[in-house]
Amino acid sequence: MSTPLIRARNLTRVYRLGGGDVHALAGIDVDIERGEYVAVMGASGSGKSTFMNLLGALDRPTSGTLVVDGASLADQTPDQLAAFRNKSVGFVFQQFNLLARTTALDNVSLPLIYRGMSAAKRKARAEDCLRMVGLGDRMDHHPSQLSGGQQQRVAIARALAGEPSILLADEPTGALDSQTSADVMGIFDELNTSGITIILVTHEDEVGAHAKRRLWFRDGLIVEDQR
Ligand code: ADP
Ligand code: MG
Repeated sequence: MSTPLIRARNLTRVYRLGGGDVHALAGIDVDIERGEYVAVMGASGSGKSTFMNLLGALDRPTSGTLVVDGASLADQTPDQLAAFRNKSVGFVFQQFNLLARTTALDNVSLPLIYRGMSAAKRKARAEDCLRMVGLGDRMDHHPSQLSGGQQQRVAIARALAGEPSILLADEPTGALDSQTSADVMGIFDELNTSGITIILVTHEDEVGAHAKRRLWFRDGLIVEDQR
């Protein structure tokens, strides 16, 4: 059998605070294969974002092992982690995090500078990605000229532009009304059908139902792995 895209063993993240330690992740074991569509579910404070931040190398484990896309994230240098983030993961956040004074096209194409692509290639790739999320007719709009759902679609296009191995989304529909949320989930569904690995955090059952696998978190542990 080939190695899974993600392998976590006894994955632990402890925040050391004055008043005592917080075991945000208390020793997680999980494998996720290429092409999976996984929802990370559970109550507020159960460790979902901590897990996602480790997967995306935005944070480092306290102990345990974590191998993602061939990189052992527990023992990489900061430069190696930055290279991993740039190559392997695309992030989508609840609050879109778009550049306000910048067109949709530039929001998507600017991060590609770090991939050493020519301006013409960046523009072509950004246009492709915006079309993929149904925004072919909104490329010159600024975020303030777009609805919340459209802004989130720009953020998804930006996350895809670098052809990441994994799309990580932390509460991507948390700021959207239910109809818009359904539209955005439709895009994730299509992307997964086209082969992209998706891991998304949600505490909404309706959103989690789109995924093919649900990992339920409680008190820093996976208490149910539901397929
Ligand atoms: P979730 O995303 O499921 O709501 P988090 O992963 O954000 O949960 O948090 C898990 C636990 O870790 C919570 O008890 C939270 O208060 C704590 N925590 C998260 N981030 C920090 C931090 N930077 N410093 C200290 N404690 C934190
Ligand atoms: Mg969270």
